Amino acid sequence: MIQAPRGTFDILPESAQQRKLVEAEAERILGAAGYQRIETPTFEATDLFARGVGETTDIVQKEMYTFDDGGGRSLTLRPEGTAPVCRAYLEHGMRKLAQPVKLWYLGPFFRAEAPQRGRYRQFWQVGAEAIGSDAPETDAELIVLLADLLDAVGVRQTRLRLSSLGTPATRVEYREELKAYLHSHEDELAEEVRNRIDLNPMRAFDSGDAGTQAVMRDAPKLLDRLHPDDAEHFARVRALLDDAGLRYELDGTLVRGMDYYTRTVFEFTSDELGAQSGVGGGGRYDGLIELLDGPPTPASGWAAGVERMLLAARELPHAPALVDLYIALASGDGARTAFELAVEARRAGLQAQLELAGRSLKGQLKHADRIGARYVAIVGDNGVVTLRDMQAGEQQDTELENVIPAILRAERTP
Ligand code: AMP
Repeated sequence: MIQAPRGTFDILPESAQQRKLVEAEAERILGAAGYQRIETPTFEATDLFARGVGETTDIVQKEMYTFDDGGGRSLTLRPEGTAPVCRAYLEHGMRKLAQPVKLWYLGPFFRAEAPQRGRYRQFWQVGAEAIGSDAPETDAELIVLLADLLDAVGVRQTRLRLSSLGTPATRVEYREELKAYLHSHEDELAEEVRNRIDLNPMRAFDSGDAGTQAVMRDAPKLLDRLHPDDAEHFARVRALLDDAGLRYELDGTLVRGMDYYTRTVFEFTSDELGAQSGVGGGGRYDGLIELLDGPPTPASGWAAGVERMLLAARELPHAPALVDLYIALASGDGARTAFELAVEARRAGLQAQLELAGRSLKGQLKHADRIGARYVAIVGDNGVVTLRDMQAGEQQDTELENVIPAILRAERTP
């Protein structure tokens, strides 16, 4: 039997309901802050991610689904949403609009990662971007909005980690300092860390190895090396979060998977989740638009994983699907009348379902009860319809034309 590809999943009706709730809450919470919906294509020019996300990142090096479109162009299933939104911002001249341009999206993303609980090869993200403002208020606003969204969806046991990466220049200087420090302690480091000192020294902070951890405790910290402007920006973000009553942990070792971040970075985790504890994260990316050949444009944003949010949430209430009218057949002869009645009922705004499985009348009534039908219309052979009120347990014969008005009248009178 053919199965869904490894690392992918089907969204069955019950979980579709829960996901609709995430979307509705995102719409409500982000809409209230002036964020408007945008959707970009599921695939883009490979170069967008190579340049935007960064050539040396795991995403670009190992995790992209890249293919030739047959015409010699290299395309990639989008692994993230920020670079595409910035591409759209430039392509549609959105810098001529009042700034910042506030956008949000929800859709599927693709990364060729090793699948495990909470980590898939096709997953959904809801994301928000504010492009065109360098104000610390933008960063704080975005962080509060994500906190509110996680809260509204019922994500439990969340923690917020917060840091600042400063500017690329600060980072280059800091990287050299950190590399020198790591080289001077090479024999105390885990082999894997030692091999990556020059490639990715920041990763040493994430190591689970005890010897490496001991070395890293005394390692120079980026937060202590921030340029005064960046330090001031960061202090302001923190003060705003304090005012908003949002608790966070300062974590100078916070590293994110994309190269484009500058200044503020943050991540929400949930202790409800196992190894893949990240629910959502983001930060400021003041250099990205320029990397994509646009003018210098400060910007900030985040993305959160829909599946992880639901995994970390309480059982979400899902309203049982309600059926106003179930149309049953007393015998085969009324089938055309029944079909027409179903069409008319739906056009009149009722949720109507038609017997389609050839059940006996008794079976049809049982089925109508099971699906929670409020009324059942039993279509007889001679144009007479028996309308049964399933709540009251009463029924009466009526003309076909009366069925829909009778239900509408009854539903209107409380
Ligand atoms: P990132 O774009 O890497 O910052 O990820 C943002 C959020 O997307 C993470 O916190 C996760 O909730 C979610 N996410 C990232 N990668 C995956 C994946 N492979 N499977 C499921 N969710 C993911």
